Amino acid sequence: MEIERCSKCTLPITWETIYYDDQGICNICGNWETKNKEINWEDREKQLIKIFDDIKEKKATYDCIVPFSGGKDSTFTLWAVVKKYGLKPLVVSFDHGFFRPKTIENRIRTFRKLGVDVITFTPNWHVVKKLMLEALIRKGDFCWHCHLGIAAYPMKIAIKFNIPLIVWGEGGGEYEGYHKFVDMEETDEWKFNRRAIIGMRAEDMAGFIGVDLRDLEPYIYPSKEELETVRVRGIYLGKFMPWDVRKQVEINKKELGWQEDELESGFPGLTYEKIECMFAGIRDYVKYLKRGFSRITHLTTLDIRHGRLSREEAMELIKKYEGKKPKSLEIFLEYIDITEEEFNEIVLKHLIPPATPIDPVTLQEGAKLWDQDLWFREKNIDKGD
Ligand SMILES: [Zn+2]
Repeated sequence: MEIERCSKCTLPITWETIYYDDQGICNICGNWETKNKEINWEDREKQLIKIFDDIKEKKATYDCIVPFSGGKDSTFTLWAVVKKYGLKPLVVSFDHGFFRPKTIENRIRTFRKLGVDVITFTPNWHVVKKLMLEALIRKGDFCWHCHLGIAAYPMKIAIKFNIPLIVWGEGGGEYEGYHKFVDMEETDEWKFNRRAIIGMRAEDMAGFIGVDLRDLEPYIYPSKEELETVRVRGIYLGKFMPWDVRKQVEINKKELGWQEDELESGFPGLTYEKIECMFAGIRDYVKYLKRGFSRITHLTTLDIRHGRLSREEAMELIKKYEGKKPKSLEIFLEYIDITEEEFNEIVLKHLIPPATPIDPVTLQEGAKLWDQDLWFREKNIDKGD
C-alpha cells in the first residue's frame, strides 16, 4: 500500500509531529510559509548582532562555544562566527566514533584556516558499542550516545570554562513540527530531556547496560546548580538567518576549501549531506524499515520548498533510490556484534504504523562507499592494522 504523503512536499504520515490540512498539505510546509513570508530576517540579524556585541564587550577568554562535527552545518556556523561576526570561539567536538576520512581532513583544514582553539572529546568505545546496541533494541535508534554527547558535552565545557554562549547551526522546524520559526528556540535542559534523550536518561542506561553511572558521565547534562553558576545560553544561527543549506555549502567550499563526499543512502549529486558520519546509511536504512521512507524524501522536501525541484521529480528520485540495503551494514553489525537476522528482527519491532513491514531480504544492495575499506574494523584489532 502506498503511504500517505503531503500533497506539496511528499513528507509521509509516518514522520513524527506531522499532520495535514484539508488540502493534504503538512504542518511543516505551513511552518515554512512563515519562514519565507512572516519573519523579518533583517530584524532577526540585528538581534543576533546585539547578542554578539554584548558578548564581545565582556572580553572573556572565549566569546562562545561552537559545537562542531565538520559536517556542512557546523562548518558554516564556525565560519560565520569567526569571519562574518568576528567572535573568538572555543570549538567543542564530540567524536561519536564514526568520522570518515574526508571529514577528518575537512576538520583539520577548517581549524587551521580559521585559527581556532579546539577540544575534541572521544568517549570510551566499549561503552559506545553497548549503548548503540541497547538504544537500537529499546528505541530503534542506535544514535543515543551521539544525540546526548553532542548536546551535553558542549554545555559541560561551557560551565568548566565559564563561557556563557553556545552557538548552534540549523534550528528546529526545517524538518519537523517541534519548533516554529516564529518562536526563538534555544537549547536548554528542557529541550535536552524532551528531544535528545529519546526517553532514556544516562541513569536508565547505566542499569540497562550494566555499567557504573560514572562511565556515562559524558552523557549527563550539567546539574541545576552548575547551570545556575554560568547561565549558559544556547542559540541557533538558523533562527537569525534564513537557513539555506545549498548556499552555505558553496560558502564552505569557497572560503574553507571544504570538500564534498559521497553519501551512502543518497542520490547522484547529493554530496554534502551527513557525509561526516560512517553510519548515515545505516540510520537511513533503519528509518526506511521503520517508517517506509528515508533521507531522500527528507532532502527533496527542502528542495521542493525552495522551488528547486518539482514534486514529480522528487517522487522519481524517491522511487529510484530509496530502500537500498547499505553495504556498511556488515561493519555496523561487526561493531555491535549481532547478526543481520537479529538486526532485522529488532528494527521491525519498531515499525511505525501505518507503514507496512518490508522484508529486508527483498531489497537491493546499494553501492559501497569509496572509503569503506579504510574504516576501523573490530576483526582486525588484534592484528594491528
Ligand atoms: Zn509538506
